Amino acid sequence: MIKNLLLPRKLVLLLLASANTWNSCVQKVQKALLQSDVHAKSDKSPVTVADYGSQAVVSFVLQKELSSSPFSLVAEEDSGDLRKEDGQETLQRITKLVNETLANGGTASPLSDQDVLAAIDSGKSEGGSLGQHWVLDPIDGTKGFLRGDQYAIALGLLDEGKVVLGVLACPNLPLQSLACHDQHTIQGKAGCLFFAQVGTGTYMQSLDGSEPRKVHVSSTENPEEASFFESYEAAHSMHDLTSLIAKKLGVKAPPVRIDSQAKYGALSRGDGAIYMRFPHRGYREKIWDHAAGSVVVTEAGGVVTDAAGKPLDFSRGRYLDLDTGIIVTNQKLMPTLLNAVQESLKEKASSL
Ligand code: AMP
Ligand code: MG
Repeated sequence: MIKNLLLPRKLVLLLLASANTWNSCVQKVQKALLQSDVHAKSDKSPVTVADYGSQAVVSFVLQKELSSSPFSLVAEEDSGDLRKEDGQETLQRITKLVNETLANGGTASPLSDQDVLAAIDSGKSEGGSLGQHWVLDPIDGTKGFLRGDQYAIALGLLDEGKVVLGVLACPNLPLQSLACHDQHTIQGKAGCLFFAQVGTGTYMQSLDGSEPRKVHVSSTENPEEASFFESYEAAHSMHDLTSLIAKKLGVKAPPVRIDSQAKYGALSRGDGAIYMRFPHRGYREKIWDHAAGSVVVTEAGGVVTDAAGKPLDFSRGRYLDLDTGIIVTNQKLMPTLLNAVQESLKEKASSL
C-alpha cells in the first residue's frame, strides 16, 4: 500500500485513466437505461446496473494495480440482492457491462459472475482510524443519473482517518462555469474530472483528456455576491432552512440545485461560493458521499465543516457522525456563514 502521502505519479495516472474507463461504462448505461435496470434498495433509494457495474470495475482495477498491498475498500453497494434468484438476470447484465468496459481498458480475460460479485463485495470494509482505506461512491447522485442530470463517481483515500486523495468524475458537468448555464440545461459535452492530493492542490481536466489546470475556490468575502449550492432533492436537504440562512446572509442569487458531489467540484473552481446540506432528522451521512468532495474543496482553498464548525471526521467507520449538517465555503466567508447557520438553527428550533 502507499506508505506516505505523496503518491507515486504512476498511481495518479492510473486513477485518471480508470476514471475514464468507469465513466465510459456508466455513461453507456445512462444512455440506454431500461426500467428493469433500476431496483429499490431496502432504504428505498434506487440502485442501477451502473452503480453495481461501476463498483465492480473500480474495485477490480484498484486491486489489480495494488496487488502487492493489503486492500481495504469502503463502498456503497453490496451484492446481497444480486445473489438472490430474481437477481440473476441483472447480474448477467452487469457482468457483460463490466467485461465490455474492462476490455476497452485493455484487460484481456473476462470476469465471471462470481468474480463480479466478489469485486462488489470487496467494498465491505468498515474503514476506521488505522491504516489506509479506499472510499468509493460508484454513482453518487443516482437520482440525478436517472433524470439525466448531474452525478459523480467519487473515489477517496483515507490514511490514518484523514482523506489524503480524492478523484471526482462528473460526466455531465460542463468545463465552463455553471454561472454561464441556465440551471435546467446544465450538461457538458465531455464532463469534468477533479483530482486532489493533500498538499498539492486541486486540478480539473475534461474527461476526454485536456491538460489539467489548477482550480481555486471563489475568493469573495461578500455574501451578497455569493451564490450557493444545495441538493436538487428536497428530501436530502432542508430547502426552507437554507433559504432562511441565505436571507440572513444577504445572498441575492437563487440556489443552484444540482445532484451529487458535482457540487463540491463546481465549488472548488469557484462556480459558487457556498454549499449547504441539512438532511432531515435521523439521516446519517455516509463517508463515501463526502470523502472525495471534501479534499477536492479543501485543496482548492475551501473549508468543509459540520453545522457546529467542526471538521468532518472520516475515522469513525462507514458513517460520519456529525452535528446537524454540512457547510462549505472559502476561509474568509466561513465565520459569517457559521454565524448565520447557528442563528437560523436556533430560530428554527424555537419556532417548533
Ligand atoms: P445529493 O445529490 O447531494 O442530494 O446527494 C446524493 C446522496 O444523498 C446519495 O448518494 C445518498 O447517499 C444521499 N442520501 C440518500 N437519502 C438521503 C437523505 N434522506 N438525506 C440526505 N442524503 C441522502
Ligand atoms: Mg452517494
